[in-house]
Amino acid sequence: MKRFIFITGGVVSSLGKGIASAALGALLQSRGYRVRLRKLDPYLNVDPGTMSPTQHGEVFVTDDGAETDLDLGHYERFTGVSARKTDNTTTGRIYKSILEKERRGDYLGATLQVIPHVTDAIKEFVKADTDDVDFVLVEVGGTVGDIEGLPFFEAIRQLSQELGREASLFIHLTLLPYIATAGELKTKPTQHSVKELRSIGIQPDILLCRAPMPIPPEERRKLALFCNVRPEAVIEALDAQHIYEVPLEYHARGLDHEVLRHFGLEKQTTPDLKHWIQTSQTLRNPDGEVRIAIVGKYVALHDAYKSVVEALGHGGLANRVKVNLTWIPSDRYDDPNADLSELDSVDGVLLPGGFGERGALGKMRAAGYARRHKLPCFGICYGMQLAVIEVARNLAGISGAGTTEFGKPDYPAVGLMGEWVRGNTKEVRTADGDLGGTMRLGAYPAVLTKGTRVADIYGSQSISERHRHRYEVNADIIEKLAPHGVVFSGMSPDGKLPEIMELTDHPWFIGVQFHPELKSRPFNPHPLFASFIAAARDKSRLV
Ligand code: GLN
Repeated sequence: MKRFIFITGGVVSSLGKGIASAALGALLQSRGYRVRLRKLDPYLNVDPGTMSPTQHGEVFVTDDGAETDLDLGHYERFTGVSARKTDNTTTGRIYKSILEKERRGDYLGATLQVIPHVTDAIKEFVKADTDDVDFVLVEVGGTVGDIEGLPFFEAIRQLSQELGREASLFIHLTLLPYIATAGELKTKPTQHSVKELRSIGIQPDILLCRAPMPIPPEERRKLALFCNVRPEAVIEALDAQHIYEVPLEYHARGLDHEVLRHFGLEKQTTPDLKHWIQTSQTLRNPDGEVRIAIVGKYVALHDAYKSVVEALGHGGLANRVKVNLTWIPSDRYDDPNADLSELDSVDGVLLPGGFGERGALGKMRAAGYARRHKLPCFGICYGMQLAVIEVARNLAGISGAGTTEFGKPDYPAVGLMGEWVRGNTKEVRTADGDLGGTMRLGAYPAVLTKGTRVADIYGSQSISERHRHRYEVNADIIEKLAPHGVVFSGMSPDGKLPEIMELTDHPWFIGVQFHPELKSRPFNPHPLFASFIAAARDKSRLV
């Protein structure tokens, strides 16, 4: 029997519902259950693809090419289950599909309403594509009481009615603030939040309470009484030292036991948490430290680079070192007179993806600095494109090299390459096309050249990685750069699109057109990140 767990949030946002959901998914998995996690986002955008990275954080891309919320990255990292298009939707997407059907005439005669048309569409989304799992964990974005969230709350209420209590469970994540003058953890905001939930017909079964300290028995009793849950179902969620310790924390507080008790399954399994325990031990006892500079346009919000940061951490786990980060706004280096010597104090430079002109020259200059000073350097997507332009200009002397993403370069080293093939269909890009959902998105194969550094790192010559970009490196440049120690060691299978570049006369300088960070996991660090951190560690030992 398939069971649905709905995770909602109250009191304030940013309590870590995504990590809480991911951690519960991992705990159920550790007991042998198959899980799928999905997220319902109440905002009106069709997907987060066109939202500002400094407001909304990273856009996580799935293998099947969906641009999704960054929480799906947590789900993948914690459970190892690759997310799909069917795992994230928004109010905008739900309405878009309803309105398209309406225009086609599919509802002929009907007056379209939030209930039942919108709620039905949400329920269909939640139930679809779940044949292969035991538990579906559904996170509702935002907090209870938000206007946009109402149709989603109503839909999950209806769904739990239809499924019955034996197949559905509600978890509500709240905050217990500590008021120093009273010396107390306060339960009132949680009581109000649950009251709000109950007013729309949802009675939570479990309260997951973020708190700065253990919940005293009296407060626990009060929460249980006023919120109508069992005292054992009030689970404290204390701040963990590291996000990868959250599953162990929640397990120690009885979350998985309480969830399974609800379904009458608590005696059937024991969890196998050895990977999580090992990870926690490595995190707490590293053999050393490295410092990596992230030179990016959106460093004002670290969540804009969530998967990059996590993947660097996984690279650290692979090498048993702690990875410290220095955040550098790339536009600081746009000025040709900018001083880059702060990079002397780091062990590696990571140039992440990005868009537009601001900070682009800065990233190019950081790439040049790393190249000349033999600093390990990892360019991702835009970072790779700009590193190619840097070597074209400064090594190969093609001073007019640039990208058609901004300006009008004499030599388009990076440009709109027009079309490419996905499966049996040809996809076409034009300069005046829509911006939403039209990039080269999702998993594409690449072929690596035998004997190159990347082929060695991957231990394979055929790979598949996730993409999210509109522009491509111009294959015409390959021959021009070859005499200068630049090898395009990874290409699309048809040989037309450069996927990877590396410098031969350098300890570690690799640029990739795709986003390897999206596939890195704590138990399975991405080989490029593991290798990059190893190079940074070797450098740190030299100085
Ligand atoms: N702006 C570049 C492009 O669209 C790179 C995108 C990225 O870094 N994700 O091709």
